[in-house]
Amino acid sequence: MQNKITILGILLAIIFWMVDAFIYSLFSDQGITFLQSCFNPRGEEIWMRTFVVLLFLIFSAYTERLLAIIHNMTIELKKYHDRLEFTISELKMENTERRHAIKELEQLSVTDPLTEIYNRRKFNELLTSEVERSKRYKTGLSIIMCDIDHFKKINDTFGHDVGDNALKVFSTKITDNIREVDMFARWGGEEFMILMPNVNIENASSVAEKLRKIIETTEVKKANSFTASFGVTNLNEDDTTETFIKRVDEAMYKAKNSGRNKVEQI
Ligand code: GH3
Ligand code: MG
Ligand code: MG
Repeated sequence: MQNKITILGILLAIIFWMVDAFIYSLFSDQGITFLQSCFNPRGEEIWMRTFVVLLFLIFSAYTERLLAIIHNMTIELKKYHDRLEFTISELKMENTERRHAIKELEQLSVTDPLTEIYNRRKFNELLTSEVERSKRYKTGLSIIMCDIDHFKKINDTFGHDVGDNALKVFSTKITDNIREVDMFARWGGEEFMILMPNVNIENASSVAEKLRKIIETTEVKKANSFTASFGVTNLNEDDTTETFIKRVDEAMYKAKNSGRNKVEQI
């Protein structure tokens, strides 16, 4: 490409020289022939022609350099563009990984590690917002508290691992038998809470009874079977989260005191 421009420049210079010589010989009133004008030009012709020819040559030489510079710049730009694209894709990847990590951390901070259901911290958050919502929109809100019966005995008789497994089995069974919108959490040890929006106390008690029967007939590896006691209550107008929890706790203890493996509502 670059050589072609030089040749083109030289060719244009020659053509110009010859055309100019031809025109000069044509209009000269001193009878100068084309060949004379071409190879032996006179003073005033030679300066102008040489000047224009030099312009052609300089122009072609500079165009060559300019093209070379543009060519190099294009290569550099392409490299820069590639590097930039690589950096952007790396940043995107890092960002996705970071978002995943944050999501995982968020998930961990609200999850009970053993049972993989909500932990107490998350439950308290949900409780506060659900109590607020229920009061504002005058919708029902019920709560069930469940506590595995004689759990200490399972631990003491079969070992802590069997106890842990019983907690997992219990959580899975409850999760599988409540609605998606119900909020199930580990309150602590072998105590659990189920928050049920838009459910009245009668329906909540029916759910608790259904769950009680399911747990009663659930097999646990090595420990064979276990039972749980359930307390049920619903939100009153003048309740705070504390009085709401206190009442369901009382209901659950009523179930314990009336022989365990029971559902009691207050
Ligand atoms: P009750 O019928 O009155 O509820 O008796 P309980 O034995 O179930 O209740 P208690 O409060 O006497 O004992 C609860 C036991 O639960 C004691 C504690 O060691 C055990 N526990 C708490 N958290 C865990 C856990 O994560 N894994 C296991 N394996 N045991 C736990
Ligand atoms: Mg217990
Ligand atoms: Mg307990």
